[in-house]
Amino acid sequence: MKRKALSVLFLVPCLALFLSAQQNPPQITLVPVAGPVYMLQGGGGNIGVVADDTGLIMIDAMFERVAGAIREAVKSLPGGDRVRVLVNTHWHSDHTDGNKALGPGAVIIAHENVRALLAKDQTLMGGQTKALPANALPDVTFSDRLAAYAGGETIRLVHFPHAHTDGDIVVFLDGLKVVHMGDMFFNGMFPFLDVANGGDIDSWVRQLDIILDSLPGDSMIIPGHGPLAGVAELKAFRGMLADSADLVRKQMKAGKTLDEIKAAGVPESLSPWANGFMKAPQWLELVYRSLEKAAGR
Ligand SMILES: [Zn+2]
Repeated sequence: MKRKALSVLFLVPCLALFLSAQQNPPQITLVPVAGPVYMLQGGGGNIGVVADDTGLIMIDAMFERVAGAIREAVKSLPGGDRVRVLVNTHWHSDHTDGNKALGPGAVIIAHENVRALLAKDQTLMGGQTKALPANALPDVTFSDRLAAYAGGETIRLVHFPHAHTDGDIVVFLDGLKVVHMGDMFFNGMFPFLDVANGGDIDSWVRQLDIILDSLPGDSMIIPGHGPLAGVAELKAFRGMLADSADLVRKQMKAGKTLDEIKAAGVPESLSPWANGFMKAPQWLELVYRSLEKAAGR
């Protein structure tokens, strides 16, 4: 019973992303963000692009099967005929499967924990992800921070430990007040939380506070999923994470079981967040698993 619940829990978000890319012809939309920076939406986790005459810097890669549509969407940008640098914000396949098509010929950069996960077959809550071939694995890894340069901009890559996973990096283009958050930010919806690979709800909130403290108020923020956002939407997401953690923690302290917590659901203030691919009971279970693991540490 427990096993079945877990696999359903995993399949809900992944299948939603997988099927949307699989069944419909991929509709990849190019959204101008600022200067040479664009966002691509529609075939997996949102991609950020920095256009440069010498080739693109691409942040995340969606799925291999939408690589043709991605290339088509960026081909008219300066340097749009080639990806020079590919950044992976974290290991999940809706951000890295496209490495197989877009990675060969590019320098792939990721956090060191991400390369370790991508180099081996992974089982996550009942789902399987195959190891990437050698030419799709990160060529350059780092542990804390790294800078890259393109399109006249400095591009800072910074690791924020124990958030959505334990390999999340955030990409800052300070000169343009643009940030790509990867899956540390799902705009307007409950997120997935990868507890098995170091994700932690309370640490996630603390990391978002560090980021929010550093961002100018008029920043443009590319989320891992959902539409382009500003600081207000990121603050709302941070508040939802903190409220969810408090809601579940209180009930755990009162001796409630996971089933009881799921059955009680979320208050009206949190219910609009259930309109994405992650429904309230699944989200409450992820929060519960995170708090349970942290308590056992
Ligand atoms: Zn993810």
